[in-house]
Amino acid sequence: MSGDRNISKETLVQWDDDYVWHPFTPHSVYRDEKPLTVVAGEGHYLIDADGEKYLDAVGSIWCNLFGHRRDEIDDAVREQLDHIAHSTMLGNTNDRPVILAKRLLEHAPAAMDKVFYSDNGSTSVEIAMKMALQFWQQHDDGSQGQRTKFMGLANAYSGDTIGAVSVGGIDLFHSRFGPMLFETVRGPSPVTYHRPQQMSREEARRRFVDDFDRVIDAHGEELAAVVIEPGMQGAGGMITYPPGFLAHAAEKIRDAGSLLVVDEVAMGMGRSGEMFACQREGVDPDFLCVAKGLTGGYIPVAATLTTDRVYEAFLGPPEEGRTFFHGHTYTGNALGCAAALATLDIFENEDILDDVRRKEELLAARLEALWELDHVGDIRQYGLAAGIEVVADADERRSFDSAQRVGMQICTAAREKGVFLRPLGDVIVLMPPLTITDDEIDHLVGAIEFGIDAVLSG
Ligand SMILES: *Cc1c(COP(=O)(O)O)cnc(C)c1O
Repeated sequence: MSGDRNISKETLVQWDDDYVWHPFTPHSVYRDEKPLTVVAGEGHYLIDADGEKYLDAVGSIWCNLFGHRRDEIDDAVREQLDHIAHSTMLGNTNDRPVILAKRLLEHAPAAMDKVFYSDNGSTSVEIAMKMALQFWQQHDDGSQGQRTKFMGLANAYSGDTIGAVSVGGIDLFHSRFGPMLFETVRGPSPVTYHRPQQMSREEARRRFVDDFDRVIDAHGEELAAVVIEPGMQGAGGMITYPPGFLAHAAEKIRDAGSLLVVDEVAMGMGRSGEMFACQREGVDPDFLCVAKGLTGGYIPVAATLTTDRVYEAFLGPPEEGRTFFHGHTYTGNALGCAAALATLDIFENEDILDDVRRKEELLAARLEALWELDHVGDIRQYGLAAGIEVVADADERRSFDSAQRVGMQICTAAREKGVFLRPLGDVIVLMPPLTITDDEIDHLVGAIEFGIDAVLSG
């Protein structure tokens, strides 16, 4: 018996408590916060072991694009099983990742020429960083390895492996690991909601850009690369940038002779209304990292896209050691690449991006209503992604004590309206499937309003 499907919810909960350690989860409160025990999915809904259905309003942590059990992706994976599940990309190839690379580049910024696979967002960023470092050692301009530092913004998140954590800037997640991290150049935080009481938002935005420029001016010559999440900082709390920031940053980084890594792991694959968020600002990066949505939320496949300029610095007789010595066992997994190809088919066949742009406006209009609520301090949106920050005092922009877990309480309350949400601190996160319907958007915003009211009124 491999995986009985008739086990009671009670038993599953018991075994979950007995045997499983969950990611980003404080286990002392885990059970009290009423986690779902998912046994199935259907379209935009998760189905719990007790048969209840919940709108998957965070797209199973930002990767599910078109709902669960999409026929096209299901069929592509099933069909692939009749050929092969996986074979190595180390010194060999496989038809699925080859075709996917070509198709992916058709959707990517024009500067992107090559695709290097891995299996999650963290590795896709880690790979860009290692490639950048080695690129400068092998690049023929006399600089020979002087560019060894990386720059990341305060509040940034690029994953949980050591390079990604080093360039990341969220103290709560990252500070414990200080002794094993390498030193990075820290840029400013684009957070402009939390600012001195008398300062205007415009002024805070200007300061952010000025500070960014100053750090580049001071460190530009030692920077191997700068890593930026385009459009919005995700895990840092759904933080938007001043309009036009990415285009400005790209130019500044180019002028400093360094390389730009856009971490599109969260905002890539259509979330911005373009396939990649950097395209919304007409930016051509040196590296583009894509993961979460690449397979429609089915199978872990990630990719690091880069230019011929970078690729060519790695060419030469093998004994010169210019080879990129990095690779994972499941690099270019064929089942995952089949799912990714079906995902691109859906984008192409259904005008998904047009529809995302329309729903971006619809969501913005619906979220307007939440400004009326006493404890809503800020609402930040980019494409079909949004964060609603609840605070103890909106006039003073004063946060709740984190021990109250207000964000989590609101999400748990919204569960009563059949909506699954997961917050970032006191920021309620919306990352719905790109195919969410207009009615579901209404229901989702209503459920958040209900949750805020249930937890904070009176
Ligand atoms: C989730 C995320 C990552 C890490 O991806 P994993 O697949 O979880 O390793 C990196 N960057 C951004 C912007 C992300 O949102």
